[in-house]
Amino acid sequence: MRIRPLFATAVFAGFACVPVAALFAQQSAEKPKPEETEVWKPVPPVVTPAATPGGAPSDAIVLFDGKNEDEWVSAEDHTPAQWIVHDGILTVSKSAGNIETRRRFKNYQLHLEFRIPENITGSGQARGNSGVFLASTGPGDAGYELQVLDNYKNETYVNGMVGSLYKQAIPLANAARKPGEWQTYDVVWTAPVFDAAGKVVRPAYATVFFNGVLVENHFELQGETLYIGKPFYKAYDRAPIKLQAHGDKSEPISFRNIWVRELP
Ligand code: MG
Repeated sequence: MRIRPLFATAVFAGFACVPVAALFAQQSAEKPKPEETEVWKPVPPVVTPAATPGGAPSDAIVLFDGKNEDEWVSAEDHTPAQWIVHDGILTVSKSAGNIETRRRFKNYQLHLEFRIPENITGSGQARGNSGVFLASTGPGDAGYELQVLDNYKNETYVNGMVGSLYKQAIPLANAARKPGEWQTYDVVWTAPVFDAAGKVVRPAYATVFFNGVLVENHFELQGETLYIGKPFYKAYDRAPIKLQAHGDKSEPISFRNIWVRELP
């Protein structure tokens, strides 16, 4: 009577324990290790951040540091820029027209600050209008404009307000400060890519923080930001960044602390 249960136990142990042991052995052999998903190369380059938030990191190209406009030329004829440098800031000269960088860029991270005068007048699009052209593709072309405008209690069409990619992307928020206060744009620009025939093979994308608030989130552009008509692409390789001297009658706006980091 006592043999049977023992035998049964032995039989059970014999059948059950061997496969379980094998299973454990197999599992421990195949158990993933944390090291298998560690990546050690390529090592990112060291970039020293600025001492203060918004300052240029060590690998930035400084486009305006308050001293001169040597990095800028007239967008019209590429002669030295003639905006007004004073008190560490750069103020639009409407008679001098648009200015653009001497250098040409593809993909980049851009920081700039602008101020709409406290005594701004006008309404709609004629109130503190300027613009940051993320790629100035040519004198006769629209390029890609990130709008600058006073929309602190000033209404206009929303795809043309501050933070918009002009007539294409409505900003996700209106983060405008009052006229007279400095405001920041931080932009990631991914340039469009064209094939040898000039056909777009990857569209342009823009991500924009306005005063630290996300207003454009990896927005896919349909082409250049046209004033009239539907956007379309026109092939270009590298392009300057352009600042707009808008023709409206309101007081000119100012810029400071402009830097760019080229991206792969
Ligand atoms: Mg504009």
